[in-house]
Amino acid sequence: MRCCPKCGMMYDSEYPEDVRAHRIYHDKVVNGVYARKIKSDKICWEKGDFRITVVNYFSPITQKRRAGEAGLLAHRDTPFDFAPYHPKEDLDKRNVHLFLLSRKIRIIGLLKLEKRAHVQKFTWQEYENAGGKELPGRELGSGFTTSHFLLLFLFYIL
Ligand SMILES: [Zn+2]
Repeated sequence: MRCCPKCGMMYDSEYPEDVRAHRIYHDKVVNGVYARKIKSDKICWEKGDFRITVVNYFSPITQKRRAGEAGLLAHRDTPFDFAPYHPKEDLDKRNVHLFLLSRKIRIIGLLKLEKRAHVQKFTWQEYENAGGKELPGRELGSGFTTSHFLLLFLFYIL
């Protein structure tokens, strides 16, 4: 068994299936998720080789799968035991939106946006003992009150 120093994958170099699986995973880790430009891309920004696309619950499954793959890579940068996004997530009050940063044909960054009524602020070192508190409601005029804030999760894959 070997452990690749770049992507961290353990694989047996004597088994062609292992070698192939490593090659595919390694390529994603080093170069980003393969995602050529397609018709269903909802591009919200584009400049030169770079573009940002938006994915949410109503996006085509191809877009959701791309976001899911990017989420799996982004997961490598966190201590959590779950990825930040799964393509089959139900629509709920969080109204999750993902912004995927691509360069040419590769997704190299992921930003997750969702509504939350509660937030917590702590460092990774404080994570085990972190508490939380409800945010105060805010009067927005004409009697409308909200305690929902947008929560940003920024993952930079490459
Ligand atoms: Zn590797």
